[in-house]
Amino acid sequence: MRSIIDMTYEELVEEVTKKLGWERFRADQICDWIYDKKVFDFSAMTNLSKEHRKVLSENYFVDELKLLEKQVSKKDGTIKYLWELSDGNTIESVIIFYPNRRVACISTQVGCPIGCKFCATGMSGFVRNLTTGEIVAQILHMEKEEKFRIGNVVYMGMGEPFLNYDSVIKSIRILNHPKMLGIGIRHITVSTVGIPEKIVQFAKDVKGARLAISLHAAYNHKRDELVPINVKYPIEEVLQAAKEYQKITGNRVSIEYVMIREINDFDSDARKLVEVLKGLKVFVNLIPVNPVSPQLKKPSRGRIMAFKEILEKAGIEVQVRQEKGTDIDAACGQLRIRKGIRRVRR
Ligand code: SAH
Ligand code: SF4
Repeated sequence: MRSIIDMTYEELVEEVTKKLGWERFRADQICDWIYDKKVFDFSAMTNLSKEHRKVLSENYFVDELKLLEKQVSKKDGTIKYLWELSDGNTIESVIIFYPNRRVACISTQVGCPIGCKFCATGMSGFVRNLTTGEIVAQILHMEKEEKFRIGNVVYMGMGEPFLNYDSVIKSIRILNHPKMLGIGIRHITVSTVGIPEKIVQFAKDVKGARLAISLHAAYNHKRDELVPINVKYPIEEVLQAAKEYQKITGNRVSIEYVMIREINDFDSDARKLVEVLKGLKVFVNLIPVNPVSPQLKKPSRGRIMAFKEILEKAGIEVQVRQEKGTDIDAACGQLRIRKGIRRVRR
């Protein structure tokens, strides 16, 4: 049995024409049922013959995500889904509503091996990578559940996308293909903690897709503490790779900066940030830390504004990210924060 949503369009056409020996348009019919009509049961694909349906049912499947829990924020409508994968592991996805767009935030791993100090996912350890089909299934099942289409996707849920590089790239091709989910490439953003060689590879593999770098500190000694992989890939190397990404794509890069009181929120941190970002066209998102442990506190409003002003005065575009879904723990880094979620190893 093979997942049919694990295949890019080109792979599906090849499977249908070469392996099954059918006409090419059968691939389009299958895509229409799955990606447009959200019909995941081959036996209900009525414009295919009984024989075709039987062959499909016996050899392929659409990854199932069992909805264990759905929470809707009373404050802003943010929706959080807790899904069970076929092996019993659980992941989460979120839909965030902005005035003019819906943004889905999806996971790429069960847990995360990076272990950032402020991140609930990182604290929960690492179990395994998601398959391409499991990444794509998150969008498919959310669209089916809500009966609307999703126009923007951020790879900012659980896990580090560039540690699951091949599956992530393939999932982007499926999200983007007009016969599949048809999400514009410029509306797809991958957020990474910063793995230099993968950043450059990403620029070449999917031109147009956007990049966000989770920097969180401008001094290496501070970033070493917050983002442990910084010991291996220090700030200069990450930002050098971001420059190469920019040279190849022409895209501005988003810099994510989680602000933590008296840790990385001083004026000196802001000035150092201006210095390290020289030569890179960026958009900085300041994210007041969401409380995941009592030692990490949000800076005061005044502190955040002072920090922001230093960046602005240096000509850097910056915004303080609005908090979404905090009442349901759906904000960044809070996925799976509640205890008692079953994790099963394969
Ligand atoms: N692993 C990738 C993508 C998933 S994390 C990455 O780190 O970029 C997505 C975002 O959530 C990152 O910018 C991360 O820094 C942020 N985040 C994690 N924990 C957070 C917290 N407690 N408060 C606010 N943002 C958090
Ligand atoms: Fe992993 Fe991103 Fe969380 Fe760091 S912030 S532990 S890289 S998911």
